[in-house]
Amino acid sequence: MWPKIVFIKITSQCNYNCKYCYDRKSSKESSTKDLIKAIKFLSSKDVEGIVITGGEPLLRKDFPKIIQSIKKQKMKVYLDTNGDLFPKYKEIISKDVSILGLPFDFANNQSYRGKNNKKNVLNILQYYKENNGPKIRVGTVVTKDNIDKLEKIGKILKRNKVDQWKIYQFFKISTTNSEKNKKGLAVTNKEFKEGSRDVVKKYSRDINILVSPKSSRNKAYFFIDSDLSVFIPSQESSTGRISLGSLLDKDILKKWLSKVNKEKNDRNLRRTFISP
Ligand code: SF4
Repeated sequence: MWPKIVFIKITSQCNYNCKYCYDRKSSKESSTKDLIKAIKFLSSKDVEGIVITGGEPLLRKDFPKIIQSIKKQKMKVYLDTNGDLFPKYKEIISKDVSILGLPFDFANNQSYRGKNNKKNVLNILQYYKENNGPKIRVGTVVTKDNIDKLEKIGKILKRNKVDQWKIYQFFKISTTNSEKNKKGLAVTNKEFKEGSRDVVKKYSRDINILVSPKSSRNKAYFFIDSDLSVFIPSQESSTGRISLGSLLDKDILKKWLSKVNKEKNDRNLRRTFISP
């Protein structure tokens, strides 16, 4: 059986180059036509929702067309964005996106993306306090830089419209920035457990908090790359991924099922997309 929700990286382009980024840059990008074909194919397999991710997905000029084609197939749209281009697409996001994922890594002026990004994200949270729209998931990647600042982040999020705060343990993926910078970023399992436990204790009555240790995400996705090849991100692999071939290959599901940790995949989907 196909996973209920799959991830499509529609571009590698990004307006940032964050030191913890685990995206492997690639210049290959599918045409609008091929993406729409892939979306129809996924719908024919009873996939219920697609997470649009990148890079920065809002940098693709055909972003509205991609969203429309997912809606046309009666599937749900989930969007992960850094939020900078939100004003340009706020109508379509408000109307068609079910869950909007935004980053929030620091409470002060520190940032992996620059101070404007934090202001932009806070503006979006403010906007949805006053307007109808998607559910909001704010993601914090826990690193050595912010492990002692989670409480302050929680304090800000508590005042805003946040349907879920997902606290990710940083992990490295080979051949990406996350690997290059892992020494300065990685926190131990014990540090992550203790740091996240403290904020859960303090804020879980006010915010739906989902704690995501790195082990829970290893080999646990159906990920479609910007050239429509399928892979499973893997923390152990020397390439950072288990490559499975083209989405349209006849035996792609069989290959995925033979390599994925299905239990983790299903649990992640349930907790991240079904419960918020
Ligand atoms: S982490 Fe996100 S915003 Fe930063 S470079 Fe990677 S894709 Fe861009």
